[in-house]
Amino acid sequence: MTNLAQTPLSERLRSLVDTVQHNERTLRRFQNVELRLIGAQDFAAFLDTLFSHLPQEFALANVTLWLDDHAPMLLELLEPFALRAHDHAHLKTSREAGLVAQSLCEGNRPWLGRPGGLDENARHAFFGAAPADVPASAILLPLTAGTSVSGYLCLGSDDPTRFGAGMATDILERFASIVAASLDNVAHRERLKQLGMTDALTSLANRRYFDERLREELMRAARYHTPVACLFIDIDGFKHINDSHGHQTGDRALVAVAACVRQQVRLGDTVARYGGEEFAALLQGDRADAMVVAERVRLAVEKLEVRDERGERLALTVSIGVAARAVGGTADEAMSLGQAMMEEADRAMYRAKRGGRNRIEAQVEPGDQAG
Ligand code: GH3
Ligand code: MG
Ligand code: MG
Repeated sequence: MTNLAQTPLSERLRSLVDTVQHNERTLRRFQNVELRLIGAQDFAAFLDTLFSHLPQEFALANVTLWLDDHAPMLLELLEPFALRAHDHAHLKTSREAGLVAQSLCEGNRPWLGRPGGLDENARHAFFGAAPADVPASAILLPLTAGTSVSGYLCLGSDDPTRFGAGMATDILERFASIVAASLDNVAHRERLKQLGMTDALTSLANRRYFDERLREELMRAARYHTPVACLFIDIDGFKHINDSHGHQTGDRALVAVAACVRQQVRLGDTVARYGGEEFAALLQGDRADAMVVAERVRLAVEKLEVRDERGERLALTVSIGVAARAVGGTADEAMSLGQAMMEEADRAMYRAKRGGRNRIEAQVEPGDQAG
């Protein structure tokens, strides 16, 4: 005789497992989109991910982004795009649409439902007058940075039951917070380009920007008594790569190493192309933290798959010098500590070269305070 009580339990378990597996797949797909957003080098790549990649990945009928062109940094970001508005039917900035979104998302909570049921003025203001532009159901997510809202992201579906009141929205709210952070990041990048502070080949910040950031970070560190650290990173035997494979292959290797270094540090840390095949990174943390990042960078570069013109894998490695400082005192004192830290990292990098390359050395000088 079968135990009837077990059947519903095993069914319940199976359905739980199904749900967990479904959620895991959903999370993984979100992660793919999120990585693209975080890695977006410019506003065009950011929009492309939202308007092409996201709807494909999640079978959405459409994705609309409303941005507040009065929010800090967004006006300059949007200007060149506003001129090409017809290329971006999904990008909106109108005041009326913003007001509609704001009133739907009361208290900066997501709104879910059927846009067809909205009053006509609201519907037209946000979705447009063409019935084809109005999805059967939609979720409207506020993009918040602190307490202010920089925009709204709208995901629309052909399925009238896909988005409805009372549904769990935690995954989508998390996604919206990543969209907001990436938007910030991309606006910042575009601003640096406008100011001539990026390197055209690698898209990293240039030395001018690095020196400015160094000053700001040292002031901050002096005020809050937090340590700062830097890495000096130099590609090993790069002249040989140029000589044997040509400058074009050399350039590709530079771009790959630059992106690789960028990926190994936090979003808020600064990485710059400091010279020809030299990079500098400015990190928040002490020497031990910086050593961990340096080792991650060294290993990641060693694993890079860059191929030469004949398809052969290039052997790429870097030598890294590390220095850190606990910063205090006046602004002038902090600045001279910063200069000393950079010089120490540079000297440590040369020791790594003399020690055989593809290695890391840290400062050994007296005055070493943050190790
Ligand atoms: P080491 O291991 O001692 O660092 O040797 P190295 O060959 O890397 O050092 P060196 O400083 O002698 O050579 C650096 C080379 O980097 C020389 C220069 O032609 C090349 N380089 C600098 N900027 C660029 C660039 O933008 N593109 C390319 N392809 N090469 C560059
Ligand atoms: Mg060099
Ligand atoms: Mg070199």
